[in-house]
Amino acid sequence: MGTDIRHAVVMGAGMAGLAAARVLADSCEAVTVIERDRLPDASGPRAGVPQGHHVHGLLALGAEVFEGYFPGLRAELERAGAPVWDWGEGLCAVLPHGTPPPTPMGMPIQTFSRPLLEHALRRRVTALERVTLRDGLTVTGLRTAGPGKVVGVRVKDGDGEDEIAADLVVDASGRSSHLPQWLAALGLPSPRTTTVDAQVGYASRTYSYPEGQAPPSWMGLLQPLRAPDFPKGCYAIQIENNALHVTLHGAGDTQLPCGDEDFLAYAKTLRGPIAETIASLTPTSAVRRYARTVNRKIAYHRLARWPDGLIALGDSVCTFNPAYGQGMTVAALEARLLEQMLRSRRTRTPLDGRDFQKRLARITVSPWLMATIPDHAWGHPRSAWPIKAGNWFMNRLIDTAPHDPRVYTTFSGLFHMTAGPLALADPRLLSSVLVRPRPGESLRTTTA
Ligand SMILES: Cc1cc2nc3c(=O)[nH]c(=O)nc-3n(C[C@H](O)[C@H](O)[C@H](O)COP(=O)(O)OP(=O)(O)OC[C@H]3O[C@@H](n4cnc5c(N)ncnc54)[C@H](O)[C@@H]3O)c2cc1C
Repeated sequence: MGTDIRHAVVMGAGMAGLAAARVLADSCEAVTVIERDRLPDASGPRAGVPQGHHVHGLLALGAEVFEGYFPGLRAELERAGAPVWDWGEGLCAVLPHGTPPPTPMGMPIQTFSRPLLEHALRRRVTALERVTLRDGLTVTGLRTAGPGKVVGVRVKDGDGEDEIAADLVVDASGRSSHLPQWLAALGLPSPRTTTVDAQVGYASRTYSYPEGQAPPSWMGLLQPLRAPDFPKGCYAIQIENNALHVTLHGAGDTQLPCGDEDFLAYAKTLRGPIAETIASLTPTSAVRRYARTVNRKIAYHRLARWPDGLIALGDSVCTFNPAYGQGMTVAALEARLLEQMLRSRRTRTPLDGRDFQKRLARITVSPWLMATIPDHAWGHPRSAWPIKAGNWFMNRLIDTAPHDPRVYTTFSGLFHMTAGPLALADPRLLSSVLVRPRPGESLRTTTA
């Protein structure tokens, strides 16, 4: 493995940026992570990551990849109070047509707040000898040697503007990335952007348990949305500090709560135990709302020209409706791709950024379909038939889950990305999902 990349600059110290910095530190002489926020010493929410106020579930696959890069992470988070539990046993899944009984799955899940996870990763990344984190510094543009080569970034802080040279620049600046505009300024064509928007809104807060009151019997509560009949749902997880983190969500034109009283009132409109649970708890945060949940992918991989010395990953390339919990896991998988490509290069061969974007696009295919197939059903009445058929099948799978532990386990594997679509090619599973009618169910598609 060569260290011909003398200096890599990573824009953004979110999940994708930290994961990328971790793998770059094995292949580069120096890695600088540039973050526009001033970063807190302790775990806590921050302005650049407003989503940190909302429930962040880390899928089983993402947890596995992060543990590989940061050995002992799970134990460290556990010491910080983040519980570990089996998904099938600890989840209360309030599905449209039933709640599966507890079903041991051997799928360990750990639940925590996003700031706790981010803080643990940041501490470990900044402890790496080759990594420097510069916070309170905003990247304002690319430094180039002609349109075909990126050789660093321009940055700004309270003292003024500066430039930082780099052999490789990594855009991990998230949903608010300015990369499309920066590429246009280099005279490169605009990449195609695809969006699917279910207009999902989030409203979240944390609770503590009053003295002497036991936490709920479940570790996580999941009540998914489904078009058109189930526009309201929720997530709740037990996290560090003996807290319960609750996100209420709604699709389309659903009005999300913004204060104490309407939070509980909204919860009371949901089936399942959420209202009853939170009614007796003590709120420990204000209600926070968030509405930028569009699925959006930017087809950098299709650009005919792509500058040397540049790659992009994480939300800056592809964001998912967070209701499917995929973003952090996809960021981890993209960092793993970066590691694989860095390792497999011949010494002194530069990283092929265009090839990286092509391979990254392949990683996003499955999670993109998982999120957008059901999301099309909100307000896309003229969806193509494969999307409608896919949605019909997924709904059927979900409706079978409460009655069939094998189907519930397979669905959970797909959700957690530990199983691929091939898991569905099991004749017994297909017969259970397709042939056996469920009591009281409708066989029509649920597209709007
Ligand atoms: C409401 C909500 C809930 C979510 N829930 C989940 C979930 O349950 N599970 C899950 O896996 N994912 C979830 N996600 C997605 C997850 O937050 C992201 O996919 C994940 O954090 C990867 O993002 P990232 O690192 O690309 O961007 P971010 O984590 O957003 O980080 C981007 C970083 O770049 C910095 N930055 C931006 N511009 C600049 C600049 N010009 N210069 C320097 N720094 C800059 C920002 O300050 C920020 O620190 C959720 C997202 C939202 C919005």
